[in-house]
Amino acid sequence: MTLKKYQEKRRFDVTTEPSGGESAPQKKPSKLIFVVQKHRATQLHYDFRLEWNGVLLSWAVPKGPSPDPSVKRLAMQVEDHPVEYATFEGVIPEGEYGGGTVMVWDQGTWEPEQPDVDAALKKGDLKFTLHAKKLHGSWVLVRTRGFGSSGKPSWLLIKHRDQYASTADIADDEPRSAVSGRLLAEIARDEGGDVEKAATGDPVEKAAAKKASPTAKKSLKARSKSA
Ligand code: MN
Repeated sequence: MTLKKYQEKRRFDVTTEPSGGESAPQKKPSKLIFVVQKHRATQLHYDFRLEWNGVLLSWAVPKGPSPDPSVKRLAMQVEDHPVEYATFEGVIPEGEYGGGTVMVWDQGTWEPEQPDVDAALKKGDLKFTLHAKKLHGSWVLVRTRGFGSSGKPSWLLIKHRDQYASTADIADDEPRSAVSGRLLAEIARDEGGDVEKAATGDPVEKAAAKKASPTAKKSLKARSKSA
C-alpha cells in the first residue's frame, strides 16, 4: 500500500490536510483506528476509513452508513490516506482536491472478524466490528462486480443483524462532529470556509431550506452563534 496517489492529488502548501510524510505516531498495535469523515465537497459524502498496514483504507459513501441491515450503502473505494488524516477536521480550500468542509463524524476503533484481513480485502468481503461513538457492532464491506462511473471499485457497506442494528436515520439524527460537536456550517464558519455550501450538508438547514422559512434560517443562525 502506498500514499503516492493521496500525495499526488494534493498541494500541501495550500491545504492543511496532513502530507503523510511523517512516520506514523506510536500507538498500541492491537487497536486499529476507525473514522468516518463527513465531507461537503462537490457532493456530500461520508469517508469511511479503516486503519490497516499503516494507512487508512478509504471508501466514499455518498449516503453515509446505515445501521439498518436491510439497507446496502454504495461505498466507492478511494486512495489510501495517511493515519494522521483520522483527526483532520476543517476546510480544504476551494479549487483544491476535495475542496470543502470536513467533519470527524465518528471515531473509534475496529476489529477484523476474519483472521486474514489481506485475504478478505483481496476477496472483496471484509467483516468487522466497530467500536465508535455512533457506529457499533458487526458490519461488512462487499466488493461488487461493477465499477462506478468514477472508475473506482465499488463496494457495499452493510450492517449485520445484532443488538446495534436499527432503522434510525443516524446520518440525520446525529449530524454533529464526534470531536467538536460542530455542524458542517459551524466548522466552515470557524475555519474560514464556505458556510452556505457547508450548511447544505447539515440536516437542519436542509429541512429549513425545504420550507424556505426565514424564521427557521434565523433560528439556525442564532443557535450557531450560541453553540
Ligand atoms: Mn472525501
